[in-house]
Amino acid sequence: MGGSIAGLLAAHVLAGHADRVTLVERDRFPDGVQPRPGVPQGRHPHVLLEGGQTALESLLPGFLAELGAAGAPRVGMPSDMVLWQQGRWFRRTPATTYIHTGSRAQLEGLVRRRVLANPVIGVVEGAEAVGLLGDGSRVRGVLLRDRSGDARAQPRALEAGLVVDASGTGTKAARWLSGIGAEAPPEETIDTGLAYASRVYRGRSGVLDGETLSYYVYPAPDQVHAGGALPLEDGSHLVIVSGLRGDEPPTDDDEFVTYAKRLPHPLLHRWLDDAEPLSPAFGYRRTANIRRRYDLSGRHPAGFLATGDALCTVNPVYGQGMAVAALSAVALRDALADRRRTPTTRRVLRALLAASRQAWDISAGADRAMPGAVGNAVAGGPADRAAGWYLGRVQERAPGDPVVGRAFRSVLTLGAPVSALFAPRVARAVLFGPPAPTPVEPPAAPEGPRH
Ligand SMILES: Cc1cc2nc3c(=O)[nH]c(=O)nc-3n(C[C@H](O)[C@H](O)[C@H](O)COP(=O)(O)OP(=O)(O)OC[C@H]3O[C@@H](n4cnc5c(N)ncnc54)[C@H](O)[C@@H]3O)c2cc1C
Repeated sequence: MGGSIAGLLAAHVLAGHADRVTLVERDRFPDGVQPRPGVPQGRHPHVLLEGGQTALESLLPGFLAELGAAGAPRVGMPSDMVLWQQGRWFRRTPATTYIHTGSRAQLEGLVRRRVLANPVIGVVEGAEAVGLLGDGSRVRGVLLRDRSGDARAQPRALEAGLVVDASGTGTKAARWLSGIGAEAPPEETIDTGLAYASRVYRGRSGVLDGETLSYYVYPAPDQVHAGGALPLEDGSHLVIVSGLRGDEPPTDDDEFVTYAKRLPHPLLHRWLDDAEPLSPAFGYRRTANIRRRYDLSGRHPAGFLATGDALCTVNPVYGQGMAVAALSAVALRDALADRRRTPTTRRVLRALLAASRQAWDISAGADRAMPGAVGNAVAGGPADRAAGWYLGRVQERAPGDPVVGRAFRSVLTLGAPVSALFAPRVARAVLFGPPAPTPVEPPAAPEGPRH
């Protein structure tokens, strides 16, 4: 259920184990590279982090070359970017990781083309899953309603040996499961009320050209606004500004530009003043962290899995969601290939949840400290507080210290496990040294060669 990144990649993995995989999608897929209604977040920046790149490449060999050939910009961090975090500019030392910043529609379109080329995978487009077949012990299929048909008509049944919920953060799985007598999973939530507004611009002149490909300001508890400009495949930039509940960014043309003044430096505002807008501004407000704990005890039926945002949604401001979807597909592949253990529903669900744990820890950990955060998982435990203290020191040192910076980026981009932050050289600098000096103004050029 759901034919977006997580659903496509799960179908790709399952096609190696099934006679037939059917992807059910409520939208009709567009022919070209364009946003579609079922993925409204697609109008906002979608960076593909290192962990997601590695996972996608291992699932679809040659994918990164295809992405590059389609023109998706590849931006080195920190060398190609002007980056601000917690009162400090990052030094533009040589890149230790790269992000792909092309449009979401392009990336999804390329995944779709590769996955749907497999004849084992069929698609039912324009059909919405509205319920499940089966009972409390086993799910046996889904109930579908054609979106173009009569809304009062009885939904039709599609039987299946395994049903995967990949219908995104707005999944109705809790209701569907209750409907067949199974238990809904307990949900953990942390919601900062973060709201986005994004708009495409073409720069006339200025800082976002030449050796500077991108600009980004991370939010922090004492500076809650984020903003930035990321290059797209056609040479334009997707500009984003964000703020918290009560101070959401406007989608009105002039006010969008004015809102950029809230950022801690006038750089983006100045650039916007001179740049040509190519699209209206689009807003987005559903950004809560939500994790559905299918691993906890309860009456969970066999034959039902969840993946991607339907299982674990993280705050988009850290850019991890597509990487989590790809890492989850790798976890599904590995769990099904493991000859030592029978892949029971519960075991596979645990593996899927484990694939999102690092992203959740980063996002939930940062969001717990944000003012006004609400939800049943905001409090955290003593271990979360200790981790928060250490991470705070890492963040102070990452902008000026290349060793700490490398470890920080590799963990944040899901390219290395959290233990990389505790490697001896990193831990020494984090625990004993003062923060290294950082540039006073946004650095206009990289230090040393770009690649
Ligand atoms: C503003 C914003 C910015 C983001 N930026 C980034 C970023 O920079 N980097 C990144 O990696 N991630 C980012 N994300 C997260 C990313 O969009 C998601 O994590 C990712 O799309 C998850 O994929 P998914 O397939 O699980 O869900 P989705 O992409 O949301 O897809 C769900 C699919 O299910 C379909 N569907 C829903 N209900 C039904 C139903 N009942 N029946 C049939 N089909 C159904 C929908 O039409 C859709 O196709 C961002 C998210 C937001 C909101």
